Amino acid sequence: MLNQVQHDEAGDRLPSLATLAKGASMTQPAPETIRTPKTRIACDGTGDGLANAALGHPRVWLEIDPDEGFADCGYCDRRFILTGGVADHG
Ligand SMILES: [Zn+2]
Repeated sequence: MLNQVQHDEAGDRLPSLATLAKGASMTQPAPETIRTPKTRIACDGTGDGLANAALGHPRVWLEIDPDEGFADCGYCDRRFILTGGVADHG
């Protein structure tokens, strides 16, 4: 019984470490800020006029939390700001 509990706890730590590693790479300033009226956007590291195969990454969907007003892409560190949201100061 005890062994099973310990095993589960160890398993929980693995994703936590991965999250920490990701967070560390996001302490750098975002290289790009993109304003969007949508709360759900896809990012693959490229974009209109910005296509650069070297910067591309697998497409991920990002959801902007209306309370925060922005979302950061964990792959390319782009920041998507919800137009008219709390983080939109433009
Ligand atoms: Zn991205």
